[in-house]
Amino acid sequence: DLIKKADISLYEAKKGGKNRVEYYGGDGEDTASRRLDMEKNMRDATANSCEEFEVYYQPVIDISGEKERCSGVEALVRWNSGKMGMVGPGEFIPLAELGLINPIGDFVLRKACEKCKYWNDMGHPEYRINVNLSVVQLLQNDIVERIRTVLEETKMRPENLTLEVTESLAINDIGRMKKVLSKIKELGALIALDDFGTGYSSLSHIRELPIDIIKIDRCFVIDLGKDDYAETFVRMVAELADTIGVRMCVEGVEYDEQLQILKDMKKVQYIQGYYYD
Ligand code: C2E
Ligand code: CA
Ligand code: CA
Repeated sequence: DLIKKADISLYEAKKGGKNRVEYYGGDGEDTASRRLDMEKNMRDATANSCEEFEVYYQPVIDISGEKERCSGVEALVRWNSGKMGMVGPGEFIPLAELGLINPIGDFVLRKACEKCKYWNDMGHPEYRINVNLSVVQLLQNDIVERIRTVLEETKMRPENLTLEVTESLAINDIGRMKKVLSKIKELGALIALDDFGTGYSSLSHIRELPIDIIKIDRCFVIDLGKDDYAETFVRMVAELADTIGVRMCVEGVEYDEQLQILKDMKKVQYIQGYYYD
């Protein structure tokens, strides 16, 4: 117990810029302590062949045809921790990025590919799967090999796999990103630019990076029907994407009205959101 408390102080001291003294018992003790617990539990969970991690699937709906059709899914990881209960990725992925993202990311990719292969074999050969890749994973020297291995071992068709990357990472080192993404595409997989419109969005990236799909962030959908800016933004990006042959997906559709507006634009191919699942 004493060492754990000393650790909490140590963590606070490091967070505050190192080379300083921190006393145990101050504010933020609960969050710091939860974080330490989480780190330890996550280490145990990954050492235990990631059994506590679960992959959930949100349908991706193709709205470009006469009738809406489920074209595939996005894999979203959850951690069903024996000690902490259900933990969402928004909470544990940032912590995992400090060290454990590789085993967790590999696990999700493998589970997702196995599932997709299963669906493909069971009468839906065109079903696709999207898997999120963290910047930390993309920066691993062996990321392409890791993906290749999973594809080979699960015998999944590479063209049914889409890897989602975020823009904020693309901006850091665009040259390197281009190279890695091109290598991933050589495997046959597709690339989606996630959360477009947030952070350091730059329209030039749509052109510069070898991407196949742009995913418009949920924050624009919230304002659809209420705010002209959001609608114009979506419409404009859709036009641009269409011009250069990139497909577009809009995330976070919850209401009928939002779906109608997007359908009326005629240029949005895919949507995701609680409206469907
Ligand atoms: P994301 O990739 O943008 O995923 C979409 C998030 O929005 C998911 O939250 C999803 O449950 C939620 N969502 C979907 N439709 C709706 C909607 O209609 N309304 C609202 N309010 N929310 C909706 P989730 O699963 O908590 O994931 C959060 C983030 O964690 C993801 O954002 C992604 O960046 C990251 N993440 C999830 N799984 C993985 C993974 O396997 N690997 C990595 N590296 N990151 C992951
Ligand atoms: Ca995503
Ligand atoms: Ca997103």
